[in-house]
Amino acid sequence: MSTDRIPLVSILEARRRVAGLVERTACVVSPTLSERAQAPVHLKMEHRQTTGSFKLRGASNAIASLCGEERALGVVTASTGNHGRALAFAAAREGIPAIICMSELVPENKVSEIGRLGADIRIVGKSQDDAQREVDRLVADKGLTMVPPFDAEAVIAGQGTLGLEIIEDVPDAACVVVPLSGGGLIAGIASAVKTVNPDVRIVGVSMERGPAMRASLDAGQPVQVEEQSSLADSLGGGIGLDNRFTFSICRALVDEVILLTEDEIAAGIRHAYAIEREVLEGAGAVGIGALLAGKLSVTGPTVLVLSGRNIDMAAHRAIISAGEGEA
Ligand SMILES: *Cc1c(COP(=O)(O)O)cnc(C)c1O
Repeated sequence: MSTDRIPLVSILEARRRVAGLVERTACVVSPTLSERAQAPVHLKMEHRQTTGSFKLRGASNAIASLCGEERALGVVTASTGNHGRALAFAAAREGIPAIICMSELVPENKVSEIGRLGADIRIVGKSQDDAQREVDRLVADKGLTMVPPFDAEAVIAGQGTLGLEIIEDVPDAACVVVPLSGGGLIAGIASAVKTVNPDVRIVGVSMERGPAMRASLDAGQPVQVEEQSSLADSLGGGIGLDNRFTFSICRALVDEVILLTEDEIAAGIRHAYAIEREVLEGAGAVGIGALLAGKLSVTGPTVLVLSGRNIDMAAHRAIISAGEGEA
């Protein structure tokens, strides 16, 4: 039988475990986007989470769930950056050794940040799959515990704590819009939100350049997509052909997946900066981008999850100045 959601009780337990380890982030109304949508639009400011993304929630819950022997041997993961950064931070905080495996496509600013957090970094191959093979070897040979970026119950339950905050802060939400890659974030949020109110629409947003979950949902099974570079680099990578949790949860609970062009993602980053005065990475800006592109049908109070801000600042400046002169 496949999982159709993470039990609410697991998400509540995760909240207890990570209390004091992750920030409860604000949820604020955007007057400009609300006017445009003709409905209240709330921004969940999760890009302000410690380490710059929501990934600290899942990583902290996974670390807090380890037994004594697992803590002594340490943890390992493959990551496009934000999960690696979060895991390195969460492990270091508890004095647990961490090895982070990543592909050559990961931007330099993310690599150096993880190094500063004290993790051991392994750069392997040109894809997430290559990095994952190194993880598998370290698990088999050295007995390290793998903490995957999305496809594990403890990780999804940790991300689900963000859904609990949305339920509390916007109890009348009609729609929650979530950046979507491997699906840990949306699976956690959807599990929490739809258990409390099944009528809330859950919308995922990915980029046209390599939308692994959307392609898999369309195919009815996990499929591989070609990994391409994108402004939303945190949304790159596959969902795993042996996906255990996120594919079936997304199939059960996600109502729609919107795809954005690179220009639409850039417009989201620019709006966040110029109007909301927030620095977002591409993945964090796709909810705003979807709304601005007219791809999101808004039928009531809507929450856009701003998932991260870890963008190279030179790249950010280039995106902002490329849009100068636009309305
Ligand atoms: C990882 C990540 C996502 C996607 O999360 P999944 O759980 O893989 O769907 C979105 N935004 C940011 C900033 C991320 O780091």
